[in-house]
Amino acid sequence: MDAIARSVPVGVVGAGTMGAGIAQVAAAAGHEVRVYDAAGGAAAAAIEAIFQRLARAVDKGRLLAEEAEDVATRLHAVETLEDLAGCGLVIEAVVEDLEVKRALFAGLEAVCGPDAVLATNTSSLSVDAIAGELAHPGRVAGLHFFNPAPVLPLVEVVRGAHTDAAVAELLVATATAWGKTPVRAASTPGFVVNRVARPFYGEAFRLLESGRVDAATVDALLRESGGFRMGPFELADLIGHDVNLAVSRSVWEAFGRDPRFMPSVLQERLVADGRLGRKTGRGIYADDEPRPAPATADPVTGTAAIWTGTGGFDPSVPGWTMSSGDVELRLTDGRTAAQHTGGGPGTVVLVDLTLDRSPARVGIAAPEHAPKEHVEAAVAFLQGHGFAVTVLPDLPGLVVARTVATLAAAAADAVDSGVATAEDVDTAMRLGVNYPRGPYDWGDRLGWNWVAGVLDALAAAEDPGRYRVSPGLRRRAREADGRPDDPEVRERDDLARRAADAMWADDAASQALGMTIEQVSAGHAVVTMRVRPDMVNGHGICHGGLVFTLADSAFAVACNTHNRRTVAVGADVTFLAPAREGDLLRAVAHERYRSGRTGICDVAVYRDGVTIAEFRGRSREIPGTLAPDEEET
Ligand code: NAD
Repeated sequence: MDAIARSVPVGVVGAGTMGAGIAQVAAAAGHEVRVYDAAGGAAAAAIEAIFQRLARAVDKGRLLAEEAEDVATRLHAVETLEDLAGCGLVIEAVVEDLEVKRALFAGLEAVCGPDAVLATNTSSLSVDAIAGELAHPGRVAGLHFFNPAPVLPLVEVVRGAHTDAAVAELLVATATAWGKTPVRAASTPGFVVNRVARPFYGEAFRLLESGRVDAATVDALLRESGGFRMGPFELADLIGHDVNLAVSRSVWEAFGRDPRFMPSVLQERLVADGRLGRKTGRGIYADDEPRPAPATADPVTGTAAIWTGTGGFDPSVPGWTMSSGDVELRLTDGRTAAQHTGGGPGTVVLVDLTLDRSPARVGIAAPEHAPKEHVEAAVAFLQGHGFAVTVLPDLPGLVVARTVATLAAAAADAVDSGVATAEDVDTAMRLGVNYPRGPYDWGDRLGWNWVAGVLDALAAAEDPGRYRVSPGLRRRAREADGRPDDPEVRERDDLARRAADAMWADDAASQALGMTIEQVSAGHAVVTMRVRPDMVNGHGICHGGLVFTLADSAFAVACNTHNRRTVAVGADVTFLAPAREGDLLRAVAHERYRSGRTGICDVAVYRDGVTIAEFRGRSREIPGTLAPDEEET
């Protein structure tokens, strides 16, 4: 597909930060650019600012004076939307407000010729919602530049449900011709970058909220050990906590308040207190105060222990151990050092993941009551390898590993839900937010079984909803475990799905309450329900009986997944917190025991990652099956 010809004029609507940058990019690529802004004088002022940027580039020798002049002559401020008639492409960069954008696109449709492509630079709104009311939504797509547009190479070309494939491809070719690197993305919340990047900030805030590790240490580990250009708090201070929180909130809301995307309380507090980051002089850090030093172990001298190992010491990959006497070093797998050490006489010291090829720092953790000399031996060993060592509390998933595992999981989910290809996800994250590697590539390199293991450990230790392993990630983990096409596992999961569907088809009660089976596999089920106005009592709280019914439905699905008819013979429920109208409740059921004809299933009901009820159900098989299986057919 050819790019839009240079001879075709391009319109830019909205002459703020992004509109001005995009206009400069299009003019530099050789197009005549018409800039329109509703605020009188704003378009002319934006063009003036571009002239100044070009002049600075000439002064610095990065641009020839004639080239700058050429670009300048192609930029025109226009007074009305009608002046954009004749443009082959119009890029909208007005305020992030759906109604404003809808009205604008209706106006553009009336003004622009039938072949003109209309693009939106929205960061968070749905392309479908913007184009929905138009007569020809097929010519509308997202063209999401990153700030500053003239500098950052990434452009997400976002295809809505109605966008013509040819229009998306034309924009891909055009972005390429403009010197950008486009990636193709589906119109889903946060597209690629803003969705996949959430855990980078989310995990850092969770760690800080735990009170067990400070911001400077988290930043130092992710920079010096993880190879990220900036730590999450430094970056959030730069972006602005208001902007970052708005993205977190919009992605979280758009995903039905999925606990994976839940914004941090601390982030909310920073915004409420006006501590927005660099723009207000104070955020996580204060501009007028010296930056705190990260926790770093003092040099340990005088220990000349002999270490032996398996798998070759390399803290950037799993699968090795190093031992000296009673001390053993291992790369974290998400579980705590106390869990690794168990009741043995020795001490397992866990090493956090590193990603940089030559990391300057590494984090470690030992069980709380480990002998001091064991920790010192580990520190001495790592200092001997040239690392600054941060001794962390015994945190599940430590710092870098939990960040990378959750980023890799988010990348896998984006790929599985059809947002973008793995290659495009990785390109977007490297170019859009400067990650040292693509997060999908990390998953491949570290092993998806390691990624799923870290999430499982975090789910068990902290929050099963937030760290739940998606079916796609579980499949990758199985493949990485060397069971790529384990027909037995696949067959069991297929059967579980068929049995659940058969049971569900007759479950009018659950359906009437608007429940949905979100996931099902052998011995496991996730069922969701949104609290409707008719489900709340006089206090505005969801009737406990309905929460029980949700838990009971998840329990029933999970314990019937073996295609044996199973009935409940007892249940205990504990209510921990109320649910209110509008809440999306998620019941996660796991079979914890099954023997002969009886089974036990544990269910937790979550609201926004908070457990609101716990349920244990006991079941007994009765004769018969739910879905026809091989034996019966
Ligand atoms: P901005 O506030 O700097 O500029 C918006 C401009 O739009 C203003 O000049 C305003 O006068 C004008 N405007 C408002 N309503 C208009 C209308 N109906 N017709 C014409 N002009 C109108 O905003 P921005 O930061 O440049 O963001 C613009 C868009 O780009 C938003 O959708 C935003 O989500 C998206 N975006 C922003 C960034 C960023 O980092 N700032 C990055 C990527 C995408």
